[in-house]
Amino acid sequence: ARTKLVAGNWKMHGDSAANQALLDGIKAGAAASKATLAVCVPFPYLAQARAALSGTTIAWGAQDVSRHAQGAYTGEVGAAMLNDFGCRYAIVGHSERRSYHGETDEVVAAKSDAAIKAGLIPIICVGETLAEREGNITGQVITRQLDAVIACIGAAGLAKSVVAYEPVWAIGTGKTASPEQAQEVHALIRARVAAVDANVAAGLQILYGGSMKPNNAKELMAQPDIDGGLIGGAALVPADFLAIGAAA
Ligand code: 13P
Repeated sequence: ARTKLVAGNWKMHGDSAANQALLDGIKAGAAASKATLAVCVPFPYLAQARAALSGTTIAWGAQDVSRHAQGAYTGEVGAAMLNDFGCRYAIVGHSERRSYHGETDEVVAAKSDAAIKAGLIPIICVGETLAEREGNITGQVITRQLDAVIACIGAAGLAKSVVAYEPVWAIGTGKTASPEQAQEVHALIRARVAAVDANVAAGLQILYGGSMKPNNAKELMAQPDIDGGLIGGAALVPADFLAIGAAA
């Protein structure tokens, strides 16, 4: 059976003092979590996360990674650097990166590849916009996003990855996908991967993200193909983040 993962995406929030309180709060309650817990923090705070979480069961990671290994790429952060700071995970292809930074399916695939090559686990995000859902092309969009990743990293790469389904219309809006809506897309993702490699598909952790909160987490994670959550707003409140972990 797949283990569950509850990962916090702090986005561009926090400062040293607030982060310390958040990390200490999460640490204090982590024992009650049924899921593996992870926090994906802004780059400048990776050292702080490492200092706070080393020797605990809580993992840490970044919110993005360069597709390049190293070189003249001003402002970029490479996967080997993340590894150097003890990261286990790197989020790639979050919808905020896709929409505000022009990341294409191919860029997202290349970033996933770069992460894997450095020994990190990419949390590869896919998801449709409201217009796409209302246009009944959710399946097409998710398939296109996923196929670009499959073409680049293959089943062997997906065996070392996590996928997150984040419907764009549910992110930060308080509108959660219903458990049925989410399960339908999660099943589609798993089936698409199964067409390439059934074993990899069976073991693949597929997280749901988009207004996951303590009051809806249990129902979502009870779905057969939902293996945890990628948490935005609720990951900034220790009690909420921990309650989601406990609901896994
Ligand atoms: P919210 O939980 O704030 O909706 O954010 C979800 C998300 O984008 C996680 O990556």
